[in-house]
Parts: sequence; structure tokens; C-alpha cells
Amino acid sequence: MHPFFSKTGIAALREWCRHRPLFALDYDGTLTALANDPCEVSLSTTMQARLRRLRESVPVAVLSGRHRPELETLLNGVAVDFMIGNHGLDWGDPTRPELQQAQSLVKGWLEQLQASPLPATALDGWSRRWRCGLVDLSGVWIEDKQYTLTLHYRNAADPDQAMAAISAALSGLQPAPQISGGKRVFNLFPNAETNKGSALLRLMAEQGFGRAIFFGDDDTDEDVFRLEHPDILGIRVGWHPDSHARFYLRRQQDMSKALAYSLACLRRAA
Ligand SMILES: [Mg+2]
Repeated sequence: MHPFFSKTGIAALREWCRHRPLFALDYDGTLTALANDPCEVSLSTTMQARLRRLRESVPVAVLSGRHRPELETLLNGVAVDFMIGNHGLDWGDPTRPELQQAQSLVKGWLEQLQASPLPATALDGWSRRWRCGLVDLSGVWIEDKQYTLTLHYRNAADPDQAMAAISAALSGLQPAPQISGGKRVFNLFPNAETNKGSALLRLMAEQGFGRAIFFGDDDTDEDVFRLEHPDILGIRVGWHPDSHARFYLRRQQDMSKALAYSLACLRRAA
């Protein structure tokens, strides 16, 4: 991994900009800083302006783990060309058999988790307090995204203990979900075939985009970086020793500068 703000990073950006690439962006931790409360996240006015300007030059996709309708709200009126939610599963067509199957699996997992609440300790059972789709379990939140589930434990009194408790509870779910970790979260998926990597490849193939630039910050974004695809420039927000991204930004606050550089590069290439 090399710093994006370096000679090689900027040279790669220029090379991609010459091909009018698709800009694909994760949302949480990439376009916005992570918040202790996922309901409190919002897109800064600077990022809104950058995205609007970006879209004047190139196609823009947001590829997020969020529930798609919520993602639309979080974009705060900023129009994008493609909005894909649930880590690549949800393209906005609920009639797809894949989604109907996912919905039924997620419903079953949710019922099982409700029937036998996560072990005590920090988790005192269901508070039934719904907030923007989150069930609050005394600091552990289950985010029901219709086609996938995310369990957040960054606010648990003892996150390590919560992680072990959740892990034990998840191991009993039937049928077994595909589980991926992340920044104090567990993501539960119906299958391993669809992820952000496969979704980005599908989007490029269907829309005829020869090149793409992808920014992401977390484990499920590694599904894109791991492709090490010659036509995808992968940039991770935050350095990570095991990342497959070619470049990294030191922190989320650098995203605004990265998009400003991208806009300048696109202007030069026009
Ligand atoms: Mg993220």
C-alpha cells in the first residue's frame, strides 16, 4: 500500500482520469466520518458540493452496506448515477428472487436472535427501542437492512465481551449466515457470491465502464481491493496492514482533498 498523496498515487489518478472512470464510493467512514451513533451521520456540505461537481464530469456510484432507502436519505439530496445498498446486494429491484430469498433468511435470523437474546453481561435483552432501523440492546445495535443484518457493538459497555457474546449467538443461527467483520460490527449475509467486488464488476460490465476508481474504508470494501483488477484503482481510507488496496488515505478527513484532486485531474484531462 502506498500513500495516495504521492508521486505514484497522483500519477495513477491522472492515468485513470484520462479514461473518464466511474467513481465508486463507500459511504460510512469514506464519504463521512464514522459516528458512535450511525443515525447521526450526515454528509458535509463540502462533500455534497464535491460529489455534485464530480458527477458533472464522470458517472458516480455509491456502494454501501446501508439499507438502500436509508442511503438515499443520507445522501441528502445529492443525486448519483448508481446507488447500491446492502454491500452489493440491493440495486433497487425488490422483485429479484435473490432479494426475496435474502429477506426471508434475514427475517428468520432476526426472529432467532429475538427468541434467545444475546447473553446477559452488557446486554440486558431487547429494549425494543427502534431508532432509524436499529434495535438497541444496551449498546449493541442490530441494524435490520431487510436483506442483510449488521450488529454494531462499538457502544457496548465492554466491546470485547460484547464481541464474544455476539459471536457465540451468531454461531447458533440456522441456516448459517455468511459473516464478515468490520469496525466493531458483524455483517450477516445470505451468501458469499454477492459482495461489493462482484457488484462493481457487474456495474462496469453492464454499463460499459472501462475503468473505475473505488474508495472504501472497511472489511467489506476489501472485496473490491482483493480483486486487484487492472482497471480498478483501489484506495483505502485509513492504512491497514492486510489491505489489498493499491493506495491509502491517512484518514477520512483526507477524502475531501482526494475528491478535489480528482476534480482537478478530470479538468486537466478534459
Ligand atoms: Mg465504510
